[in-house]
Order: sequence, then structure tokens, then C-alpha cells
Amino acid sequence: MNIDGSITTEPAEAPIVIAIDGPAGSGKSSVSKASARALGFDYQDTGAAYRALSWFCLQQEVNTSEAQDVIATLVDFEYEIGTDPDDYYVTVGDTDVTEAIREPRVTAVVSAVARVPEVRAYLVALFRQIIAGTTKPGIIVEGRDITTVVAPDARVRILLTASEDARMARRSAELSGESAETTARQLASRDAADSRVVDFMNAADGVITVDSTDLDFEQTVTAVVDLVRAAERGAEIPTN
Ligand code: C5P
Repeated sequence: MNIDGSITTEPAEAPIVIAIDGPAGSGKSSVSKASARALGFDYQDTGAAYRALSWFCLQQEVNTSEAQDVIATLVDFEYEIGTDPDDYYVTVGDTDVTEAIREPRVTAVVSAVARVPEVRAYLVALFRQIIAGTTKPGIIVEGRDITTVVAPDARVRILLTASEDARMARRSAELSGESAETTARQLASRDAADSRVVDFMNAADGVITVDSTDLDFEQTVTAVVDLVRAAERGAEIPTN
């Protein structure tokens, strides 16, 4: 108690923010989610918001190649995402779109929606609100521009990469023949479209690259968790 009878409470320690970027098929969603679970952190999948807005545009029969029409949908876009790694869900208004946002018709238009600067500005602000709202000791945020735009001051910034062959193989593991080839082609063209807007293939200054080409899933999670634990101990994180 202070001399005047008031009580000073120590401010709660600010949650640690971990930023992870990478191309499609790098495994960043599943690795981020498992790492968050291991650390007792929240997890935010930012691609889900671009997908949810794309789903909403399709539902409203908006032509997603018309930027102005996409921007006009933002005012009615009620988005919510579960950040508990054990309770992941995505809703738009009253509709649970967790599964629907993975449909090929959504994936086919998401790059066009994501390249609209007003959409990016709107969603970046939303991502920061969600980061600020975490009640856990930390939050892992994954996407394409987290290390550079959304959370450039994050305590640990990681670019999760894998060779193109490894990424294609992982994405098409459950498919075979023609559909595997189609998947690989679609993935490559989405990366090409996305990387015209954000450079997520090269690590920015201060960002550490974790190359998972020769790592299995558990080894990749361990690499991420070890980096976060080192940062929590106050260790200097090597970058490249
Ligand atoms: O990660 P995911 O494949 O779900 O992302 C879907 C799309 O959302 C990407 O292809 C990209 O167009 C967009 N995106 C983005 N910036 C982010 C996350 C995703 O532009 N931070």
C-alpha cells in the first residue's frame, strides 16, 4: 500500500507476439497451431480472414475482380475467429464458415480479394485488435505479411519455408494423379499472384528462416517452440 492509502499494481506483462510468414504449403498453419498449443499461447490464422471475406463476397454475388465492389462489402463484414488452438472456428455473421472457406471456389478468388489495398488496411487493423485482445501469455500470428506489416515489432519473427517440391508433395499427399498435379499448379499460381503483393519468399531484416524441407512436422514444431523459449529467456535470437 502506498503512503496515501492507494494500491499500486504491477502492470501485467504484455503478451509475447510471435510472427510467422510463409508460402502456401509450408505447413505454417498446422505448425503455428501446434506450437501455440505447446506454449499455451493463442493462435491467429490471418489467411482465414481473407478467405472469409472472399466467401462473403461470393455469397453476396460480388464480382471479386472489381475492387470497389469488394471494398463495399467491408461495412457489412462481421468476422470472428477462434484463437484458442483447441477451439478453432471462423464465423461471418451467424454463419460458421470454418469448412466453407477452404472450398476451391473461395481459394480461386482469395488472391484477387487480398490484393486490394483497402482490404489489407482494414484486415491489418483487425488482426492487431485480435492480438491486443489475447488473454494468454503470448500469441502466434501466421500469414504472409505478419513479420513485415502486421507485427514488425514481434518478439520472434519467422519465415517458414520449404522447397517447392516439398510443399507440393505435402499439399497433394492425400490426392493422386491428375488432382495432385492440378493442386500443385494451383498452389504455384496462387503463390505467384500473392508474392506480387507481399514478399513472403525472402526473409526481411531481423527475420529468422526456418527451412522445413528436411524436417518432419514434429521437428518443425520443436524448432519454432525452441526459438520462442529462447526469446522468453531473453536470449538473442539469431537471424539471417
Ligand atoms: O494462408 P492461406 O492459404 O489460408 O491464405 C489465403 C490467402 O489469403 C493467401 O493466398 C493470400 O492471398 C491471402 N493472405 C494475405 N496475407 C496474409 C494471409 C493471407 O494476403 N497475411
